[in-house]
Amino acid sequence: MKKFDTIIIGAGPAGLTAGIYLARAKKSVLIVDQGAAGGQMVLTHKIANYPGVLEISGYELANNMKKQAKSFGCKIYSSSKITKMDILGKEKFIQIDGEDEFSADSVIIATGGEPRSLGLDSEKKFKGKGISYCATCDGDFFQDQDIIVVGGGNSALEEAVSLTKYAKSVTIVHQFDHFQGYEHAIREANDHPKINIILEHEVDEFLGDESLTSVRIRSNKNGSTQVLNATGAFIFIGYIPRTDHFKGILDINDRGEIIVDADLRINVIGVFAAGDVVTKKYRQVTTAVSDGTVAALSVMEYLNTK
Ligand SMILES: Cc1cc2nc3c(=O)[nH]c(=O)nc-3n(C[C@H](O)[C@H](O)[C@H](O)COP(=O)(O)OP(=O)(O)OC[C@H]3O[C@@H](n4cnc5c(N)ncnc54)[C@H](O)[C@@H]3O)c2cc1C
Repeated sequence: MKKFDTIIIGAGPAGLTAGIYLARAKKSVLIVDQGAAGGQMVLTHKIANYPGVLEISGYELANNMKKQAKSFGCKIYSSSKITKMDILGKEKFIQIDGEDEFSADSVIIATGGEPRSLGLDSEKKFKGKGISYCATCDGDFFQDQDIIVVGGGNSALEEAVSLTKYAKSVTIVHQFDHFQGYEHAIREANDHPKINIILEHEVDEFLGDESLTSVRIRSNKNGSTQVLNATGAFIFIGYIPRTDHFKGILDINDRGEIIVDADLRINVIGVFAAGDVVTKKYRQVTTAVSDGTVAALSVMEYLNTK
């Protein structure tokens, strides 16, 4: 069984940053991701709020971080499923894809989150058949079509604007009477000639046969409904932390977030958590990167004193 100083679970910006710091400090690091390295960055059309980088696609920023982590010696396993795990003892242990086994003195959990769904049966039916949670991945499929965006935060507003590159029209449907985004994101969506805005409405049902053709929405003021022609629907209504693997083992709050202290220690010795998966208010690439740094420095302190 190969042994590392640290195993990092999750190769989003938090996990990759932690890997960069630890590997530069000559610690041996294994980063495991069940998907493609890069995490939610890969789903992001453009990132314009990462300091020092004027504008970059999420994919490119993810790729740069991955290359940097590898260049310092991190071993990265992507598209790899953790099939067994025991992180409670002094020596931590994981098994990947039912065969490769690894141990480590410390673990960083950086498993991030995933898009929240509306929870409608018709949403499940049309997922991948008109309904998407990623403008960058799927926007191109909706050339010259009428689509809706559900949500009213920064992601919904920014991704609605990015979708105007492809779609004939984009209608933002939001449950409240105002948006919860940054001033400039709200202005950009409000001013865009291809964007229509319907406030105080929620999706009642997605309609269609084989694929989505229209969406019935309901007024939150008087319950009246209307049907919008839409062959695409993009849902941006927040996220759920990915902590299923750790329920019953770690201290997790009722929102599903891992409870951490200021140094990102958790209730298990030698285990740390970083990024969108932990208790915090603001979830951005910069805050994930900051967490990755803090977790790595805390791990180094732990490894040096244990
Ligand atoms: C559509 C969209 C647009 C956004 N736009 C911006 C923006 O413009 N600017 C900005 O700063 N932020 C933006 N964000 C937010 C930003 O992407 C996240 O805050 C950030 O990626 C969180 O980083 P993370 O490393 O904590 O988690 P994630 O990026 O979620 O990465 C977690 C990784 O862990 C892996 N993982 C999960 N569970 C397991 C497991 N059990 N085993 C192995 N691997 C696992 C996942 O596959 C994933 O790769 C956006 C997010 C979305 C969804």
